[in-house]
Amino acid sequence: MASYLITGTSRGIGLKITSILASKPASEVSVVFAASRTESDALKKLIANSSGRVKFINIEVTNEESVKKAASEVKQVVGEKGLDVLLNNAGVMPYSPDGIETMTDLDSTFNTNVTSVHFVTSAFLPLLKKGNLKKVANISTTLGSIAMSQRYALFPVPAYKVSKAALNMLTVQYAQSFAEQGFTFLTISPGWVKTDLGGDSADLTVKQSATGVLDIIIPATTTENGKFYNVRVPGWEK
Ligand code: NDP
Repeated sequence: MASYLITGTSRGIGLKITSILASKPASEVSVVFAASRTESDALKKLIANSSGRVKFINIEVTNEESVKKAASEVKQVVGEKGLDVLLNNAGVMPYSPDGIETMTDLDSTFNTNVTSVHFVTSAFLPLLKKGNLKKVANISTTLGSIAMSQRYALFPVPAYKVSKAALNMLTVQYAQSFAEQGFTFLTISPGWVKTDLGGDSADLTVKQSATGVLDIIIPATTTENGKFYNVRVPGWEK
């Protein structure tokens, strides 16, 4: 019986992960904190139909005060049981169609995709330390891979690529620092997914991606601490 907190649950992959978790038996999922700066109609509906298992937590991940307030609200609900799983999913992907030399949004993108993940993780660490599972999954992308960068050279999102490469290293830094305390930090690329961010031509439906992400997180143990995973199109070579 695990408690989860997911950021960026107003839409896209975060919303679908929340809905899949909410449909699992109470013996597997006790409570899901849907942390979002916007309570979208879809999220409101999910919460209304969840019999109290999904709870809305207001969070603007770039604002440290908002993040601390969110952690304190979650603490009031979970108490000494703590939080089992944190999923840092909120992210932004701005375009620089005229080339990297015209990139103006590196700071803001880095702030949302990297610095905020650090804010959220550090703010929730005291609760995660009390939890049984001690798992943190950070949602990244193969666009942040230096080894695969040639494949994606023509896709004009340099700030996003730089920020997600940094997120991968942030995750490894946390994994190394908290390995001895029994933590499992994972980096997961959710595949190319049909969302506002991924667009309509993407390979995966949100359901396929969200299911794939959870299939990595749920069985993960400390043996997987610090690893990078990629959700694949069903049938593709692993
Ligand atoms: P969406 O654009 O559909 O959703 C992004 C979510 O992040 C929204 O809930 C949004 O909230 C939230 N968010 C953004 N900025 C903030 C902020 N400052 N504070 C709080 N919430 C914020 O994206 P996806 O669902 O597609 O992406 C989710 C994650 O998956 C991202 O980290 C993305 O980089 C990653 N990813 C996605 C891929 C894809 O193909 N879709 C591929 C690889 C990785 P709001 O509604 O309020 O704006």
